[in-house]
Amino acid sequence: DTAPETRSFEADVARLLHMMVHSVYSDKDVFLRELISNAADACEKLRYELLSDPALAGDDGQPRITVTLDPEARRLIVEDNGIGMSEAELAEALGTIARSGTRAFMERVTAAKEGEGAQLIGQFGVGFYSAFMVADKVDVFSRRAGAATAAHWASDGLGSYTIQPVDPAEAPARGTRIVLHLKEDAASYTEAFTTQRIVTAQSGHVPVPIFLKEKPDAEEKQIADGAALWTRAKSDITAEEYADFYRSAAGQFDEPALTLHYRAEGLHEYSVLAFLPSMRPFDLFDPDRAGRMKLYVRRVFITDEAQILPRYLRFVRGLVDSNDLPLNVSREMIQESPVLAAIQKGVANRILSELDKLAEKDGEAYLKFWDNFGAVLKEGLYEDFARRETLLGLARFKSTAGEGWRSLKDYVEAIKDNQTAIYYATGADLDRLASSPQLEGFRARGIEVLLLTDQVDSFWVTASVDYQGKPFKSVTQGLADLSLIPLAEGEAPAAQASAEVDGFIAYVKGVLGDEVSDVRASERLTESPVCLVAPDNAMDRQLEKLLAGAGR
Ligand code: ADP
Ligand code: MG
Repeated sequence: DTAPETRSFEADVARLLHMMVHSVYSDKDVFLRELISNAADACEKLRYELLSDPALAGDDGQPRITVTLDPEARRLIVEDNGIGMSEAELAEALGTIARSGTRAFMERVTAAKEGEGAQLIGQFGVGFYSAFMVADKVDVFSRRAGAATAAHWASDGLGSYTIQPVDPAEAPARGTRIVLHLKEDAASYTEAFTTQRIVTAQSGHVPVPIFLKEKPDAEEKQIADGAALWTRAKSDITAEEYADFYRSAAGQFDEPALTLHYRAEGLHEYSVLAFLPSMRPFDLFDPDRAGRMKLYVRRVFITDEAQILPRYLRFVRGLVDSNDLPLNVSREMIQESPVLAAIQKGVANRILSELDKLAEKDGEAYLKFWDNFGAVLKEGLYEDFARRETLLGLARFKSTAGEGWRSLKDYVEAIKDNQTAIYYATGADLDRLASSPQLEGFRARGIEVLLLTDQVDSFWVTASVDYQGKPFKSVTQGLADLSLIPLAEGEAPAAQASAEVDGFIAYVKGVLGDEVSDVRASERLTESPVCLVAPDNAMDRQLEKLLAGAGR
């Protein structure tokens, strides 16, 4: 045996581990969900590789997960016979933070006040490292499927880990064994009753069977059947089972706001199990964040990178299980497949129509959804021309008409005689926007103005969108011809064009020179003396600011 090589964790891992080791987070059970979810992922990866290389299976049988309790030594062991990790993979997977989500989590923790970080664990899956909430030492023995060698990773979670080759006889024949040396106050995880209850509640629906051994030399018993939840009839599945599945499969900690489970039949056959989260994932606006819908083919996990849904639905979690895609097709080929294209289209349409139904059935729930994800959905207004009409129908806006959310249908129903456009103002801050001088003339005429405060708003409004034949028009851009719409009662008319006004305009032009392209009398203003607007065909002012800020 060679001496183990000691390596330092990447700085962010060390910080994360520090949090885990000193965690005051009360719901420590989640570590089991994380380890079992990793074990299940490893089994699914193996199933996929077996499709093209059946020899990888070796002598070991069907994928399975075994949880072994060792009360005497105060240990808990989670073992899988999945894909396993080579020495290099171990160092990469358990020494760095690869997930953008975990990075986003770390940023949130850093920004949070002292003591608030622990709460964030509960809102966020922190993966393997959560083992250090309950263990003061973790050993990982792993053997990559098909490899002759095995490796041993060990750490006390205090800044460094060791890694070394190990006699393959000490590692699983295939896959990974994770040994937790439990802290004194975590001894209850060696009680069969406790651990079985936690595992079945949290992970009872992972698509790999789970076995429990109450002692290292005890008989094992099966505690979860590994049947894929989505293959069962909807009527047989409880809301709690759906929620548990959502949390374990999607690594989420909240309740799903909406669960969608159906089977598409006809030209293509596939099952869909999709969830809308009730909380915003931290990395929602991370540019690298991709969709999180998994693709299965006849119960075999193929990839979570098939981009089943358009980017603006990236908050949806879940899976599609296809019956017609060939199992032996490569991930790259799948991308090109017309079957996938049909699935992509069908699932996106269905999700949008479910949202529409929700808006009709339960307005309050819908507005909660919109509050969380509306800004993302609006990206579709310029990315998905074909569904723009639908998306505009789903969109909700703040406006000068009052505090609440307004739909475009509401807007158009309240439109003034002779009003030919849907007016909007963009800005970063709702209150400032609502009190901007550009709105005065609109207010005086009772014309509703949409107040758009999301970054994405500056982009879609320029994509020559219209709704029911009415173009969107910025109140800070070009001529606002409001003369055809009468003032509300009691409002004083704006200054009439006169020789005096013309003289004043000429004077202002002279003073400002090249700084402005034009100076005009405007019907926008009723109280303020002056406001800035962009020329007719130029960029909207808010977009200009955004782009300047982005360094373009
Ligand atoms: P995530 O599962 O989201 O990637 P984790 O922190 O849970 O993040 O795990 C980090 C990585 O470690 C995984 O992506 C995987 O590559 C590897 N890993 C963890 N547990 C196992 C296991 N039982 N078998 C194979 N690989 C594993
Ligand atoms: Mg994980």
